[in-house]
Amino acid sequence: MDFFTVRNGELYAEEVPVAVIAKEVGTPCYIYSRATLERHWHAFNTALGDTPHTICYAVKANSHIAVLNVLARLGSGFDIVSGGELARVIAAGGDPRKTIFSGVGKLPQEILAALKAQIGCFNVESEAELQLINDIAQQHHYIAPIALRVNPNVDAKTHPYISTGLKENKFGIDMSDVMRLYQYAATLPSIKIEGIACHIGSQLTSTQPFVDALAEILRIYDDLQQQGIPLEHIDLGGGLGVTYQQETPPSPEDYAKAIKHHLGDRKVNIVLEPGRAIAANAGILITQVLLLKHQPHKNFAVVDAGMNDLLRPALYEAWHQILPVKAHANPPEKVLYDIVGPVCETADFLGKERSLAIKAQDLLAIRSAGAYGFTMSSNYNTRARAAEVMVDKDYYQVIRPRETIENLFASERLLP
Ligand SMILES: *Cc1c(COP(=O)(O)O)cnc(C)c1O
Repeated sequence: MDFFTVRNGELYAEEVPVAVIAKEVGTPCYIYSRATLERHWHAFNTALGDTPHTICYAVKANSHIAVLNVLARLGSGFDIVSGGELARVIAAGGDPRKTIFSGVGKLPQEILAALKAQIGCFNVESEAELQLINDIAQQHHYIAPIALRVNPNVDAKTHPYISTGLKENKFGIDMSDVMRLYQYAATLPSIKIEGIACHIGSQLTSTQPFVDALAEILRIYDDLQQQGIPLEHIDLGGGLGVTYQQETPPSPEDYAKAIKHHLGDRKVNIVLEPGRAIAANAGILITQVLLLKHQPHKNFAVVDAGMNDLLRPALYEAWHQILPVKAHANPPEKVLYDIVGPVCETADFLGKERSLAIKAQDLLAIRSAGAYGFTMSSNYNTRARAAEVMVDKDYYQVIRPRETIENLFASERLLP
């Protein structure tokens, strides 16, 4: 459920007509809905209810500090994958102690910054990293809280590029090595074992892979308990899917029910790291039709947003709903269009074969663009990145102005 609605043929973001924002801010432009972000966060928080838990929003889905700040005010924790994301969490008023640091290649300076900020946990992805964290912590007189991120070898049944829990993926520690590494971690002087973690992939549309992963984790949890290494928390990662087209992912409630059922009476804190499920349907990308191009075999709507603004269709052949911001009183004929950007790549499309009654200069909205939208955007083709706007009921604010062309190369230098 989100707060983008069509009223009398016109798209609204909460109480604000999208066309009003586009007129003031220009296009392309991302629009986020505060109420939707909050609703989705609460859905997870309420679903886990009495089960001790921490919701750690995955910053990489949408790392704008205004988005992080909205969630921080609800009491959210954060899942980060770089020192840059840690800096954003702190700038947004997030609590480092509720922050979890994931990723296969943490830099020494990032590890030190995270220790100084007293983050909640490092999710360790290899033996080498465990040693590195111990060494840095020891040298600077810190105790590093850690969980081992295991690779439970379950098939998330999602796009191969966003599948992370198979044994051939680069992520996590192989199940055959996990017990040995916990025993080793227990001997390291500057390491404190806090928990166990996994993250099996993104855009999952059934609970079964999560349940399979949890079963593997509980096996280790129980074994460790018996060996005198009790864990404080189980982190099941993110990955709950959203509806882009016809998908019917489990609700946070169904997901939480499945978790609770399998936990039984174990007293352990559950950590979840949802990113997409919170942010995707809380954002749209607005673009203007530059021109319609009718070829003998294809019709194209060339728009002012491209793959540099929203990479998902080019990268994963992802499907996003595309709709006119305002319906015409006397609509032109519906035509099957490929919606393409101005970038010089054949992969530069936002949607294919969409039946639309549109004219040049019309505004289009690309739905479900709040996650992995702006954060994956680039300056390819020397295109300034889009403006970002947040709506809060009938109020809206530009939270990041459109980049200017001069700034794109202001720090570039010529040879003497
Ligand atoms: C990307 C990522 C997430 C978030 O995944 P979503 O599918 O957006 O929920 C959570 N945890 C880790 C470790 C990640 O890499």
